[in-house]
Amino acid sequence: MLDALDIAILGAGAMGSLFGGLLAEAGHRVTLVDIDDAHLDAIRRDGLSLTTDAGTRIVGNLRVSRPEQAVSAPELLIVFTKTMHTEAALASVQALLGPHTAVLSLQNGLGNVERIARYVARERVMAGMTTWPADKPGPAQVSSHGAGEIRLMNADGETHAHVRRAVDALNAAGLNCMADSNVWSAIWEKVAFNAALNSLCALTQCTVGELSNVPDGEALTLKIVAEVATVARANGIAFDEAHVVDNVRHALAHHRAHRPSMLQDVLAGRKTEIEAINGAVVAAARAAGVAAPCTECLLQLVRLVDARGTRRPY
Ligand code: NAD
Repeated sequence: MLDALDIAILGAGAMGSLFGGLLAEAGHRVTLVDIDDAHLDAIRRDGLSLTTDAGTRIVGNLRVSRPEQAVSAPELLIVFTKTMHTEAALASVQALLGPHTAVLSLQNGLGNVERIARYVARERVMAGMTTWPADKPGPAQVSSHGAGEIRLMNADGETHAHVRRAVDALNAAGLNCMADSNVWSAIWEKVAFNAALNSLCALTQCTVGELSNVPDGEALTLKIVAEVATVARANGIAFDEAHVVDNVRHALAHHRAHRPSMLQDVLAGRKTEIEAINGAVVAAARAAGVAAPCTECLLQLVRLVDARGTRRPY
């Protein structure tokens, strides 16, 4: 029988709505907390339209709230804002951070635990990585296709009861989750993939497949993966470079039309997550005394694009 949890999702965009929808469908008591009034109002009125390989259905048992209106502390808070909004979001939901609330980040990039640990004791923070994809085509709509997984552990490396409860809750929602004491490797390996493909697509406005239109594209992606592998190892992280290279090659060959989120952000005139990805790798390279020149160059170029800010007609 399901051990139903009180769960809040902080940042209910594409990923937060997917996870919130699946967790609510499984019978957990889920509140989506966001600042996007159009999305919240549409869910309040019509429910969430959730499309997966199992089909499209309406999830009608979701509660929704703006941060300042969220008052009761959940057992599990999942942070799914973009990385640059984590701290503002946590600062605005102090009432959600009760003494027994465990906080999980499955955001991309590095530094998520450190940002959350400014608001919550480290023994209640869980670090994780997910390969589930999600898109949000409009208010109260979310879709996700294909398979994914979640790996997580407590940030202090200890085995706490809340880790098992989070894993069980996510598995009840079909999200294929396991506790993994080696999660830092999975996080760094995903960072390498994103540092290469996201920043290159954001700058060139190529889809993932278009990066392999000339040999330079693939060569540059693999060079960045190699740099991130060096930085990870210099920071004591076991890094499976061959596995990331396989993933990159698979994406170049099979996800040809995909526009990574960083490209979507640039096209929409939004800030990207470059600081938590290439930016954090470059900072870690400096700290360890190793070089990451291509990763740094892409960081500097995406910063220029971010600073420009406005949407362009191309
Ligand atoms: P998104 O932009 O769709 O959603 C972010 C949500 O956070 C938005 O709804 C926004 O309104 C909300 N938000 C911003 N500031 C807030 C605040 N102060 N308080 C409350 N809510 C706030 O982003 P996403 O695609 O769902 O990605 C979320 C995270 O997950 C990112 O770190 C991303 O890299 C990672 N991720 C995304 C995918 C994917 O396929 N979309 C896959 C794996 C990991």
